[in-house]
Amino acid sequence: MGYYVNIRCSKCRYSFTDGYARKGVSSNLGFPIIVCPNCKTPNLTGKKIWSQMTTSERRQYFLSRVKQTLINALPLFIIVFIVIGKFIGSNISNEGYGILILSGLIAILISSFISFINSWYMINKIEKKYREGDTESVTI
Ligand SMILES: [Zn+2]
Repeated sequence: MGYYVNIRCSKCRYSFTDGYARKGVSSNLGFPIIVCPNCKTPNLTGKKIWSQMTTSERRQYFLSRVKQTLINALPLFIIVFIVIGKFIGSNISNEGYGILILSGLIAILISSFISFINSWYMINKIEKKYREGDTESVTI
C-alpha cells in the first residue's frame, strides 16, 4: 500500500524519482538538500538526517513508522488468519474471535519487527551517505 509521487527539481523539473514512484507513509527522514544532477540546483526537501533531528522530529518520524507498520500489518493479518484457520480446522465459528485477535497480534508483531529493521537500516544508510557528502540520492 502507498501512494505515488514524482519529486521534481524546482528549477528544471528534472525528476528525482524517475517519474512516478510508489511510496509508503511519508516520513521526515532523509537528506535536507538534494542537488539536481541535471542543473546542479540545490533543492530543499524539508527532511532531516536522524542525528540532526530534535526530539519532536524523532517522535514525528516514529509515528509515521507506526502508521506504516499498521498498514503493512493488514495484508499480513489476512494471511495469518487464513493459515491459523487451516491449522485449527473448520471449527472456526467457535474460536473465531480468539483467532482474529491472535492473528492481529502476530501480524503486528511481524510487521513491527520488519519496520524496526528497515528504519534502523535507513537511518544508518542516510547518515553514512550524508557523511560521505552524497547530496544527489533520493533514498526515501
Ligand atoms: Zn534541476
